[in-house]
Amino acid sequence: MSSQQSQPPQAPGQPAADPAPANQPSAAQQTLNGAVTQKQIGKYTVTVDRSKCISAASCVAIAPKVFELDEENLARVISQDGNDDDTKLLAAQSCPTAAITVVNNETGEQVWPPQ
Ligand code: SF4
Repeated sequence: MSSQQSQPPQAPGQPAADPAPANQPSAAQQTLNGAVTQKQIGKYTVTVDRSKCISAASCVAIAPKVFELDEENLARVISQDGNDDDTKLLAAQSCPTAAITVVNNETGEQVWPPQ
């Protein structure tokens, strides 16, 4: 029995074909005329459950370009790409009430808090 797999021959010096999955989010989604309608740099999306927010502001201290306290002194998201993914995750993990949820856009998986 052979363990050989049927792979197409590859020309020397040619990179392997690596087609992007059809459902892969792009860095910038464009309309047909090329106008950028959405810009998402990181792979994590953060949301704040304001009913859990106690205004501790550690999220703002760690990721001030993603979170801010509003006029009610509750956290809200002002940008998804103001800080990088690691910083967004760290900010979420710093929240004493786990009010911040982090979802991986690519997999749909909830990264934080653990389920
Ligand atoms: S760290 Fe949590 S409790 Fe504190 S402001 Fe941010 S969301 Fe609210």
